Amino acid sequence: MAELKGILIIADLMNNALAPISKELLGAGRKLAASLNEPVEAVLIGSGVAAAANEAFQFGADKVYVVDDAVMKDYRTDSYVAAVVKVATQANPRIILAGQTTMGRDLLPRLAFKLNSAVTMDCIDLSIDAATKNLLMTKPVYGGNARALFTADTFPQMASVRSKAMAAISPDNSRKGDLITVSAGVDAGAIRTNVLQKVVAEVQGIKLEDAPVVVCGGRGIGGAEGFKTLEELAKVLKGAVAASRPPCDSGWVPDTMQIGLTGKIVSPDVYIAVALSGSSQHMAGCSGSKTIVAVNRDPEANIFKEARFGVVGDWKKIVPAMTTKMKELLNR
Ligand SMILES: Cc1cc2nc3c(=O)[nH]c(=O)nc-3n(C[C@H](O)[C@H](O)[C@H](O)COP(=O)(O)OP(=O)(O)OC[C@H]3O[C@@H](n4cnc5c(N)ncnc54)[C@H](O)[C@@H]3O)c2cc1C
Repeated sequence: MAELKGILIIADLMNNALAPISKELLGAGRKLAASLNEPVEAVLIGSGVAAAANEAFQFGADKVYVVDDAVMKDYRTDSYVAAVVKVATQANPRIILAGQTTMGRDLLPRLAFKLNSAVTMDCIDLSIDAATKNLLMTKPVYGGNARALFTADTFPQMASVRSKAMAAISPDNSRKGDLITVSAGVDAGAIRTNVLQKVVAEVQGIKLEDAPVVVCGGRGIGGAEGFKTLEELAKVLKGAVAASRPPCDSGWVPDTMQIGLTGKIVSPDVYIAVALSGSSQHMAGCSGSKTIVAVNRDPEANIFKEARFGVVGDWKKIVPAMTTKMKELLNR
């Protein structure tokens, strides 16, 4: 058997450029590469994607495999799995990483099956076991209430990684690497799905998943009107507004704003939880935040156990005061 070598990143692309998660995965790859003394490689799949290879080098790839073909324009399970199997067979990586994204969630389990290996999904930390060189994968379990450490004894070792869990390295424009073109070799007729239409969700302001600051309102906000007050704070902090489930269920805000087990998962730098209790189902969507700030009138609310900073009191008084102070401090 050929020697297992390197960390292969399956890149998510947006408009044929690296998506933020791909830069984060390359950063994670560099960290693992330092422990293993092995290269970081990336695979870019799509149509017209070759130009993104330079970006991949700048963000840490030593080698980039490009599968550039009109048939690969849209993500489709059959064609992408086949392409990654082809690259993985050629590269023989020790580790394969992808984002916990629409593509990663669909592709990785199938890839693991095809490569006769296993995958740990939704990881928030990765490291190398110094004794065995195996990949150690940490992921939240029990609705975010605990973290579990996984490893595997099958190869390639595979993980999907949650957005914002890893840090990208600063891009180095002078960094170069090896570019390897791989033919798709896919019979278009054998692909069982077709993309008929793409609908892009309209987002006002910054996208929730990308916002460095999220101001999230709960049932205690009391109605749609109250969310306007949260918007003012979010605007000053250049952040986005989100909600726990009750405001979405009550129709105060759209469902797309829901954070939690059955909503979105975010990991911003700052998560300001206003008038929400901090249920385990809610925390499953925000426990990866770097700093949680809680505003709640009940000093016994669970959210204070999760928060780094807390203010006990009525949000109607506290949030406008926070907005005024932030405006003053940030000069906005
Ligand atoms: C299968 C399943 C999946 C679920 N998925 C999700 C999910 O994805 N996301 C989610 O959020 N929930 C989810 N839930 C619901 C979850 O269990 C909780 O019911 C929900 O998170 C509670 O929302 P909340 O904290 O806003 O409301 P509550 O628990 O009612 O808390 C409201 C808080 O507001 C405070 N408050 C009230 N008035 C004020 C005021 N004037 N000033 C300051 N504080 C005030 C109260 O002290 C209280 O702590 C799920 C439940 C199930 C069973």
